Amino acid sequence: KVRVRFAPSPTGGLHLGGVRTALFNYLFAKKHNGTFILRIEDTDQTRFVEGAEEYIVSCLKWCGMVPDESPEQEGNFGPYRQSERKATYKQYADQLIADGYAYYAFDTPEELDAKRKQIPNFTYGLATRGDMRNSLTLSEAEVDALLASNTPHVVRIKMPENEVVSFTDLIRGHVSFETNLVDDKVLLKADGMPTYHLAVVADDKAMEISHVFRGEEWLPSAPIHILLWRYLGWDDEMPQWVHLPLILKPDGNGKLSKRDGDRLGFPVYAQNWTDPKTGDLTKGFKELGFMPEAFVNLLAMLGWNDGTDQEIFALNELIEKFSIERISKAGAKFDFEKAKWYNHEWIKHTTSKVLLPFVKEEFKAQGTVLNDDNYLERVVDLIKDRCTLLTDFVTQSIYFFTAPEGYDLDAVKPKWTAEKTAFFESYALELKDGLTGIELEEKFKLLAAAHNFKPGELMLPFRIMLVGGKFGPGVFDIAVALGADETLKRIQKAIA
Ligand code: GLU
Repeated sequence: KVRVRFAPSPTGGLHLGGVRTALFNYLFAKKHNGTFILRIEDTDQTRFVEGAEEYIVSCLKWCGMVPDESPEQEGNFGPYRQSERKATYKQYADQLIADGYAYYAFDTPEELDAKRKQIPNFTYGLATRGDMRNSLTLSEAEVDALLASNTPHVVRIKMPENEVVSFTDLIRGHVSFETNLVDDKVLLKADGMPTYHLAVVADDKAMEISHVFRGEEWLPSAPIHILLWRYLGWDDEMPQWVHLPLILKPDGNGKLSKRDGDRLGFPVYAQNWTDPKTGDLTKGFKELGFMPEAFVNLLAMLGWNDGTDQEIFALNELIEKFSIERISKAGAKFDFEKAKWYNHEWIKHTTSKVLLPFVKEEFKAQGTVLNDDNYLERVVDLIKDRCTLLTDFVTQSIYFFTAPEGYDLDAVKPKWTAEKTAFFESYALELKDGLTGIELEEKFKLLAAAHNFKPGELMLPFRIMLVGGKFGPGVFDIAVALGADETLKRIQKAIA
């Protein structure tokens, strides 16, 4: 039975790497008729940020990845927020201590700080634990007395000496770590809250997680988790490990960070995120005008492909084709130009009917409410091939809703003649609703010939009259969409 979890910490906006982790979890779950779980890992209260959980939920929803079990949609394995599971963790810390796999450490933050100053790159572990004030160095009576007097303490895992922890990662194959090089991580904090390491193992067990998909940055934590699974006696229920390749900066030089986005001018968050403390807004893909389908598609291709050249996949197709074997080990470079290409492809291949709500949303965001769906649909049809972002629909179609205020007539003005005015006066008389673009063009050409013009000399002025500038789809298609009345008005206004 496949049960996977996306386990973000609610510490701020959701980085695209986080959404990709959610996506790979989701695809794997859906492919195997399994369960996709959202678990909020909020045990670190110092990093907790108000609103971050709601934001995560809303991003998943936008992407079409609604969890089967989550804080909002409780299943049989709740609660789904770690802060609400606090009572369950201590027993495991106690068990580990009783079995000699973990120990109490009474060092104060000041003592730890002093050590860090004294020893560069100090880590609490095999080499140093003998110098510290913990239950491995104190007598049993001393430890009992410290505990009895409620001396603040943490519980640390006792990394074994000279062992090698090996496991199979479904992407990387055989992976091994030397225990001497791993420090004695804290499992239970002084406030009684578990750390990530203890909570993640306890909850993956309690929630019967079958596969752990997470970013490669968690690979160094895997030996700690594997030892905990073993020490708690759950070895044969351990999930399979799947550490996803990093998402790299565009130049391939290191892991992509939020700062790279700020520096290079592209988003790394799924949706707009406003930091509740500073009020700073970080722009997201959604608000920049990405379709969720395109966003999901481009994320899937960061580290995965189906073995062919196909690049455009809908979510249901991704579910069908997804396989762990086709996830690459190597990091995937993030390229914003390529990201926009995906969006452009999605816009082109989506019917105007389906695009309609997105486009209306964009107009609304700019303060314009559009009601005539039929008209808007025709407009969308005409311009969608020219739009890379959904926001482009506004700039590319504004002249369909308001007549141009000014004209970019510089290019045509110097060569303007009374004969040209006369041509447009007669052409205006031929306009009527019901004519196709081809028919309008035919009339235009015949009349141009009658006035001794090449149609080419008049086409650009006509476009500028209707659009205000040198852009847009076929000018006769624009005239048809605008209708005879409006086209006439714009011609008259321009030649007046
Ligand atoms: N809470 C961790 C995070 O924020 C989860 C890592 C894991 O999936 O084990 O990414």
